[in-house]
Amino acid sequence: MKRTLVVANWKMNLNTHEASTLLHRLHEYIPAHRDIEVVLAPSTLVLQPLSIEIDRRKFRLAAQNAYHRDSGAFTGEVSYTMLRELVHYAIVGHSERRIYFNETLETIRDKVAAAIRNDIDPILCVGETKQERTDGETKIVIHDQIVTALAHLTSEEISRVVIAYEPVWAISTFGGEVAKPDDIEKVIAQIRHTISELYGATVAEDIRILYGGSVDENSVTTYLAVPGCDGALVGSASLNYRKFAAIVEAAYQQHYTEIIRGDG
Ligand code: PEP
Repeated sequence: MKRTLVVANWKMNLNTHEASTLLHRLHEYIPAHRDIEVVLAPSTLVLQPLSIEIDRRKFRLAAQNAYHRDSGAFTGEVSYTMLRELVHYAIVGHSERRIYFNETLETIRDKVAAAIRNDIDPILCVGETKQERTDGETKIVIHDQIVTALAHLTSEEISRVVIAYEPVWAISTFGGEVAKPDDIEKVIAQIRHTISELYGATVAEDIRILYGGSVDENSVTTYLAVPGCDGALVGSASLNYRKFAAIVEAAYQQHYTEIIRGDG
C-alpha cells in the first residue's frame, strides 16, 4: 500500500518568524506516522531556516516555485539547482501560477524537467477552470496538461512525479466550491488512464495522485476515501496548526482503516 501524502501549501504567507512558530506548533501536534508523509511548502525565503529546524522524521520540505534554468543572468530568480539540498519536492503548475503569472503548458514542462534534473520530485498540479468545466472540456484540458508537463521525462523519471488534481473552481482562492467525490474519482481514473497509455499500466498504478481544493479537517476523510486518491494538497487550512494536525490525524486513521479492511 502506498504512503498517504499530505502537502501543506503555505502560499505567500508567513515571514521567517511566523513560519518558525507554525513549524514548532506542528512539531508539537503532529506525531511521526510511518505510513503518512507530510510535506510543508513554505515561501522560498524561509526554506533555508526551516530546513535547519525541521524534524525530518515528521516532515519534508517542498518549494512552491523555482526557475527552470540552473544558473545565469536571470535577475530575481531562484533555480531548482539552488534548492536541491533544501527540498525533497517542488510544487509545479499550481493554478495560481498558471493564472496570475501566465505560466504556460511549456513553462510547466520545463519546470518539471528542471526539478527532476536536480533530484527534486515534482508535485504537478492539474485542473480545469469553472468555464472549462461548464464547456465540457475537463477531460481534454487535463489530458493536455499532463501530456505536455511530462513530455521530457523517461518512464523511470515519471514514477517520481506526484500529480495533484485541483479543480480551479474548488480552490479557496478561486471560489472554493465543493467538488463531488464521484467527479474527483472520474478525473483521477482518467489521469491514470492517460499515464497508462503513455508509460504503461504499472507506472499508472504506482504514480501518486492527490486531491486539492478547500480540503479541511471536516472534508479530508471524504476526499481520501475517493478510490485512487493517495493524499491531499491543502492550502488555507494548512496555516492553522490545529486544522492541519487534524487533517494529518484523519489521514492516519483512514490509512489504518484501509489496512485493517485489507484495501489497497
Ligand atoms: C492549493 O493552494 O493548492 C489549495 C488547494 O488551496 P485551498 O486548500 O485553500 O483551496
